[in-house]
Amino acid sequence: MEARKTTIAISANDFSRNFAEAVPGLTRKAAAEEANRCLYCYDAPCIRACPTSINIPSFIKRIATGNLKGAATAIMDANPVGASCARVCPTEELCEGACVLNDASKPIQIGLLQRYATDWAMENDKPMFRAGPSNGRKIAVIGGGPAGLSAARELARDGFAVVVYEARDLAGGLDTHGIVSFRLPQQVSLWEVEQVKKLGVDIRTGVKVGEDVPVEELLDSYDAVILAAGMGYVPRLGIEGEELAGVYDAIKFVEATKTYTGDLPEIEGGRVAVIGAGNTAIDAATCSVRLGATNVKMVYRRTRDEMTAYAFEYDFAKQEGVEFSWLTAPKRIIGDEKGRVTHLECVRMELSEDAGKDGRRLPAPIPGSEFLLPVDAVVLAIGQERRRGLIDLLGVAHDRGVVLIEEETRRTSHPKIYAAGDVIFGAGQGEAMVVSAAEQGKLAARAIAKAFADANSIAI
Ligand code: SF4
Repeated sequence: MEARKTTIAISANDFSRNFAEAVPGLTRKAAAEEANRCLYCYDAPCIRACPTSINIPSFIKRIATGNLKGAATAIMDANPVGASCARVCPTEELCEGACVLNDASKPIQIGLLQRYATDWAMENDKPMFRAGPSNGRKIAVIGGGPAGLSAARELARDGFAVVVYEARDLAGGLDTHGIVSFRLPQQVSLWEVEQVKKLGVDIRTGVKVGEDVPVEELLDSYDAVILAAGMGYVPRLGIEGEELAGVYDAIKFVEATKTYTGDLPEIEGGRVAVIGAGNTAIDAATCSVRLGATNVKMVYRRTRDEMTAYAFEYDFAKQEGVEFSWLTAPKRIIGDEKGRVTHLECVRMELSEDAGKDGRRLPAPIPGSEFLLPVDAVVLAIGQERRRGLIDLLGVAHDRGVVLIEEETRRTSHPKIYAAGDVIFGAGQGEAMVVSAAEQGKLAARAIAKAFADANSIAI
């Protein structure tokens, strides 16, 4: 399922145009006008709706008075990946959805104002935070994505010495690698990584825990470990033909377009089927359009009501010309004599009255409804693999790869290991949003600080 690569995809100029940030930022005048519409509510519902509890009226007030450093500091103080979240948060379901002005006129454009303030911070690069005085404790963080960075930043501010072990060559997790650049340019995520490094956090990239660093070494050398390794690539569907040329893993597909290397996924022929209907599936579909695909279909075995992509993502995909085949499941991928994809065999589905564990109605194939879809590429986007190997090496309890933690202490079944982010998402725990991962990182950091403060007071 390795991505077939070629140099023929699109030119550097086309790439720059097609993969540049799609939504323009606010101008100074528009930001000031929007900020001045805010009612600066007491007990503001927008704050309560933000998983990281950003003081939204406070940062908006600072924009209104021209204090952009103060605005950016208020945002980044609550959310160490606040610049990325300004671009990828489902704001209409969170802060903007809760804004009191929904009833009167239209909600404040909180996401765009957040972006306006954090863009200023990126451009001006003024220091916003400092590391705390050393408390003599050392913490290892496994994973340099939003949860790991957030935890590391908070720990550094509390005086812990922090080392982040990141398996990839660049930290930032999905923000750096897995969200399309026309929604989230890579430099935004890398700027957030730099902010964490500036607090003295040692981010060791290209280092795999369990391979390059033994788990025992981490447990022996550090006072605590935070597991924030996220999830892996897309699992196999388990159907015939997944090994054919032209079958892609959606995350690798998107990743190949984060920067222009001339080494982009080939979509020769231009007809792409994306299997799945989550956030990454939408990203893969819209990416395909911008790579020059002539027809992009999302194939999903349920209906629009059950898709996990957000409404704004669905609307964006529709605007980009992406088509949706609801109640359709892939059966096998068919190739030609050269081993290249030519068709996707699908079957029509219907929803039964029975609901699965997640409450969604279960789909079932309609016998005899198989049909062939002519395609040149198939992108698999049916979720992400769990970090089972690493979880087993660490020996922490899990439910089918979802690490189990104690809600209050954020501890796993191992007394020295805490967990945050996508490793704890699923099985009724957490939310798969960047902003939730950031909050979970903060919670893990606070739990560690509290555990050592409690230990110190007992020792005294
Ligand atoms: Fe401003 Fe809306 Fe928040 Fe009230 S709810 S403080 S109007 S953004």
